[in-house]
Amino acid sequence: MHEWALAESVVKTAAEHSKNEKLKKLSEVGVVFGELQAIDQEIFSFALKELVKNNDKISACKFKVINEPAAFKCKVCGKEFSLKSLKKTDVEAEYIHFIPEMAHTFLKCPKCASPDFEITAGRGVYIKYLKGLQ
Ligand SMILES: [Zn+2]
Repeated sequence: MHEWALAESVVKTAAEHSKNEKLKKLSEVGVVFGELQAIDQEIFSFALKELVKNNDKISACKFKVINEPAAFKCKVCGKEFSLKSLKKTDVEAEYIHFIPEMAHTFLKCPKCASPDFEITAGRGVYIKYLKGLQ
């Protein structure tokens, strides 16, 4: 049900934005999906379609999904690295996708092997841009 809650907040934000900007219609919303996000995009897209049905200002709006790869930065040596560069096994990758916090259990800095790093990108879902007709 996480997908529905998320879709609801995206639709709500989009509706508020079009109201604030005095847009007649909202035509496109770009939604960023972090790589470390266990969201089913099919369910999410379906939820969006259902939720905009009754709002004629945004019912014709296209929701464009932008996938954002995960990025990490080592707190010890400052090395920046990505999930792909670490060649994780599929099982580990699945875990990390499901629970972003697990990244710290499985991943180490490729330069200094420290497990102390921050996630700088690829977490969460957010609206990147909105387009509409004035
Ligand atoms: Zn390091």
